[in-house]
Amino acid sequence: MFSNESRGGTRSRPLAATAVVVAAALAGGWFVYGAHRGSGAGTADGRGPATAPAADRTSPAPVAQGDSPATPGATPGVPRKELAGRTIVLDPGHNPGNAGHTAEINRSVDIGTHRKACDTTGTATNSGYPEASYTLDVAHRARALLEARGAKVVLTYDGDRPYGPCVDERARTGNAAHADAALSIHADGAPADKFGFHVIAPRSLHEGAADTRAVAAPSLRLATTLRTRFRAVTGEPFANYLGGKGLTVRDDLGGLNLTTVPKVFIECGNMRNAHDAAEMTDPAWRQKAAEGIADGLTDFLEGKR
Ligand code: ZN
Repeated sequence: MFSNESRGGTRSRPLAATAVVVAAALAGGWFVYGAHRGSGAGTADGRGPATAPAADRTSPAPVAQGDSPATPGATPGVPRKELAGRTIVLDPGHNPGNAGHTAEINRSVDIGTHRKACDTTGTATNSGYPEASYTLDVAHRARALLEARGAKVVLTYDGDRPYGPCVDERARTGNAAHADAALSIHADGAPADKFGFHVIAPRSLHEGAADTRAVAAPSLRLATTLRTRFRAVTGEPFANYLGGKGLTVRDDLGGLNLTTVPKVFIECGNMRNAHDAAEMTDPAWRQKAAEGIADGLTDFLEGKR
């Protein structure tokens, strides 16, 4: 299930990209600019060394007649803050303290379509690594990556309360922040022979306090970019216990029903599966998961599909 397609934290695509190299003689020297993602792996996004395959980046390139000059505002060596001005809410699923606060966690809250428990304890690996510890760790890693790209990142909680928050509050945090995108991070607790990840988007509905009609479509697009990038970076396959090739649409999750901003859930793997559990207990894999998450959110905010 591993396909080692990621390359050390860069956003390199699995396939060799064709770099568009624009050379300009400036200030008495040659500066080579790799094109931004889409047409090639480049330096302009500031996410690591370029992987321009063909160009010898140490030699002056021939003058490209008629080409426009360097990207306005792009300064070699200075990371481009492509998410500047954007707000992202990350919601680490569950709370390690939930198990000790069953009365508070079991009280019901209104999720629009019906009432549902405030939250659950979440699952755990067979060796006892809790889902809630996994989700908070990955949220921290993703936050660091997204902040480095210029985003403002808000967490629904940050290990700073004994239990909760409830699912309705988790949704409202994203709404109050007027998030450009929101993501709930989870891991699943399916039968041991099942494995893989999936993304969950909200169904379009208008019922009680729930009105996702305006955000269902952008959320589905977010789900798609996240699915693509998470798989590319981690090599994790689509969940083999659901249809939909790693993407489902649901109307029974309070965190989605009550959102007024584009939002999805990701179930990063099955903690009850030995292979997935080994991945999720490995900090290096969690870093990959965070990169896949950050890249999926970035693609969405940059309008990629
Ligand atoms: Zn969960």
